[in-house]
Amino acid sequence: MERIIGIDLGTTNSLVSVWQDGRSRLIPNSLGEYLTPSIVSIDEEGHVYVGKIAKERLTSHPEHTAALFKRFMGTEKTYALGGREYRPEELSALVLRRLKEDAERYLGTEIKEAVISVPAYFNDMARKATKDAGALAGLHVERIVNEPSAAALACRSTGGKGQAEEDETLLVFDFGGGTLDVSLVDCFDNVVEIVSVSGDNRLGGSDFDRAVAEQFCKEHGLCFDALSPQRQNVILRRAAQAKCMLSETEQTVMTVTDGEFQGQMELTNQKLIQISMPLFHRMLVPVRAVLNDGQKERLEISKVVLAGGSCKMPTIQQYLRHFLPYGQMTVMDPDHMIAAGVGVYAGIKERREEVKDLLLTDICPFTLGTGVYNEADARRSIMAPIIDRNSVLPCRKEQRFQTAKDFQKSVKIDVYQGEAYYVDENIYLGELSVDVPMALKGQESITVCYTYDINGILVVDVKVDSTGKQARQVITTGTYTLDPAELEQYLRDLEQLHSLPADEEDNQMLIAWGERLFAQTTGELREEIGRRIQYFQHLVNQEQDPYKIRKQRKYIADFFERADRYLDTFADAWQRLEDDSSWYEPDSGGADPYGEGTESMAEEEDLKWYDGHLTS
Ligand code: AMP
Repeated sequence: MERIIGIDLGTTNSLVSVWQDGRSRLIPNSLGEYLTPSIVSIDEEGHVYVGKIAKERLTSHPEHTAALFKRFMGTEKTYALGGREYRPEELSALVLRRLKEDAERYLGTEIKEAVISVPAYFNDMARKATKDAGALAGLHVERIVNEPSAAALACRSTGGKGQAEEDETLLVFDFGGGTLDVSLVDCFDNVVEIVSVSGDNRLGGSDFDRAVAEQFCKEHGLCFDALSPQRQNVILRRAAQAKCMLSETEQTVMTVTDGEFQGQMELTNQKLIQISMPLFHRMLVPVRAVLNDGQKERLEISKVVLAGGSCKMPTIQQYLRHFLPYGQMTVMDPDHMIAAGVGVYAGIKERREEVKDLLLTDICPFTLGTGVYNEADARRSIMAPIIDRNSVLPCRKEQRFQTAKDFQKSVKIDVYQGEAYYVDENIYLGELSVDVPMALKGQESITVCYTYDINGILVVDVKVDSTGKQARQVITTGTYTLDPAELEQYLRDLEQLHSLPADEEDNQMLIAWGERLFAQTTGELREEIGRRIQYFQHLVNQEQDPYKIRKQRKYIADFFERADRYLDTFADAWQRLEDDSSWYEPDSGGADPYGEGTESMAEEEDLKWYDGHLTS
């Protein structure tokens, strides 16, 4: 049997899974880890680094390294790496290629097909770009699953003993590095039904990193935006580490040592809340929206399912508990929920006995419509919804439109996605035209039919009612997606890039680590790090004695680890911090540090959830 893998192509990290021995299993990468950072680095010689090693290079070679590119799937943004421009789907393809290789090694067979998860809010172009990325990685991607649906599937099929459990209503809160997706899911018998979804595709863990980094800069008289990308990355990396530390301890110290600059900042959960309060407020918006759209009360939620790395933040769990007090919180492993779910889907697709009857019904997360003539202002067309958001997929809806002007020769159907009243505030997806017989305004009509399939591909059919003339457009080739010829070209280009063999990759990983430390230190320590990098490069490039290389790799890694620890607890900087009281701002007593005040009742309500819980 041809195996199908499940891939959670995340903004920050990606994972691969497969249905094996009656359950969904995660597949480790070559480093034995499940999380592969979604980061790609390409050097001048066309060597490509993916994952942890690329993450190190983000600090040492930011100009050759790209991260968070998933946020720009299906857009025209490009990244200049190693002397060439790359589209987000090409970079994603390099991550997918790596996961495919990991799966092939683990399963001992060639893999040609994958199910990939995407945020529910991904528009048509981003979905098409994800499929293109699969094709560029040599994977046929027939099925795209919404991430929250995958999380629900994982919860439903692994929460119990592999059999259907009681009926329940789940709220899936999927909060990753770059996006927040919230879904309301009804589960009964073997059916997992997505009732409503909402989200914020510009809100994620990296916004908290940014808030911490900006606070750090504020306390040290720096302006984050004015710093070099390299220094920004160093501070962001430390900010992310400090934030993650707060999942384990109530208080931590963020230390930044970068060249001549040294600084520290104390961080507590309480302070994190204060500096990122606007982010907390934004989290509730989609929760309210799914309950509204699904016509459910919050008390009807029987379980809150947390997915995505950011759900590990205790402050977020606390915040949700405050608003959803009756929900039983399921904290399985937020990092793995989606991947586990796509693995279940891979099992369903392979028609595995244990899950073949499990039925996942999904919905269209946004409204699809067309622009109609605006009598009041001819310059701004109005959105006429054809498929309403949260319609069950696959779905097919028809609507009739009349000509808007006398002796009109043709009718143009613009296709839009979004909820706004005016089409220019929604996302344009494409258009098609049909000729109509010339007649007085309103005398000719057309029937427009939208069909939206389970993979999120939209087909638009138009029929002229009087003549029966028809036109069809499959909205899969938006402006920024690839046509077959381009796909072929990109495929050839990507084949030019080669990854390094595993042992060589470990070597390069050590060198990248050293280069990052070199950039962060000064003086003797920096010289020593430089010497070790040179020596190791000499061993790898000239001597090439595998035994010696392996031995030195271990010694030097020990040294680098100590250097990293040293950076964390830099005594001098601490002393200076104690001497200098200007960094310390007296506790504002919960006031909004952004100075926006807390006028409304709702906001005062919001503040209560942490007063008395986290304040010491
Ligand atoms: P994902 O996109 O689901 O991989 O989530 C990645 C996000 O989760 C990043 O912003 C991480 O900083 C964040 N994250 C991972 N682990 C933790 C942790 N222990 N505490 C807080 N945030 C975390």
